[in-house]
Amino acid sequence: MKKSTLTNLVAILLCCLSTQLQGQESWIDTSIHSGLIELKTEYTFKTLVSNDSIKTTTETLKNLNNAKLYFDKIFQTDLDFAVLFIENKEWSKYAYFPPPGLPQAGNGNVILGLDKSVVSREIEKMVTQLPEQYWTSLKPVYGENIDLDLFYRETLSIHELAHLYHFKEGTKPQRKWLQELFATLSMYSFIKEQSNSSYELMDTYPEFVIQSGDRMAEFKTLKDFEEKYVQKLTPQNYEWYQMQLYQNAKSIINSGKSDILIKLLNFLINTDLNKNEILSDSELSTRLEKEVGKEIAVILTNWKHK
Ligand SMILES: [Zn+2]
Repeated sequence: MKKSTLTNLVAILLCCLSTQLQGQESWIDTSIHSGLIELKTEYTFKTLVSNDSIKTTTETLKNLNNAKLYFDKIFQTDLDFAVLFIENKEWSKYAYFPPPGLPQAGNGNVILGLDKSVVSREIEKMVTQLPEQYWTSLKPVYGENIDLDLFYRETLSIHELAHLYHFKEGTKPQRKWLQELFATLSMYSFIKEQSNSSYELMDTYPEFVIQSGDRMAEFKTLKDFEEKYVQKLTPQNYEWYQMQLYQNAKSIINSGKSDILIKLLNFLINTDLNKNEILSDSELSTRLEKEVGKEIAVILTNWKHK
């Protein structure tokens, strides 16, 4: 090969690489960034706030950065994303959907509450109206006044960040419960392995909800979850499903299956509905067992409510 040909080849390769890098940057939807204030941080991802006089972001950003480093290593990537902290009163202007303060992610953005979330406030009110014996277990973890933002923001922001790793590939999943399980498995694994001081914040509230039983859930089948999802289920019913998935994720990670994260991510990408036909439940179960692991396939077959 002549030297000039080689130089040309290198130039072409570099050009492709820079196009790819530009492609990576452009996946972030910046249309919702205008009007926000950029915070200076030591982290590689961009941080924007709707009000820079509210100082509630330090701990959350530290956790998100640690989670990013952990996920990047497992998923062999360097995810580019932005974090937006939005006050409740500004929520509808910047966030993709309500309720104000509940973490959400999409198009390269993680959107979090800046002040006390509406969801936490309402649930705190409901919980503390119960006889004290029912919620006394929450006090040592969430404080005398029960601050559920320690769950809804600090913990769920990690679940939302995990979603970006499959959204990045533009996946339309075979089942929504699979993408929710993926985000919860990732969150559980990170907090258990790398952020153990947050473990009780993640685990105590779900255990409390699970112990209070099924009465908040009108719908309980996986089929209902697919059809109704966030929009057509009450918040309590949606949470009920998430808590069932949390229990499954907990037992899978606790049994030492950490390679399940990358396998499940690849499965979401390889079975993307934009490029694949929808699988029947039995086809899905067979493929999950073969490509991800038996423990995921049994969630489908052993789901209590048919
Ligand atoms: Zn989710």
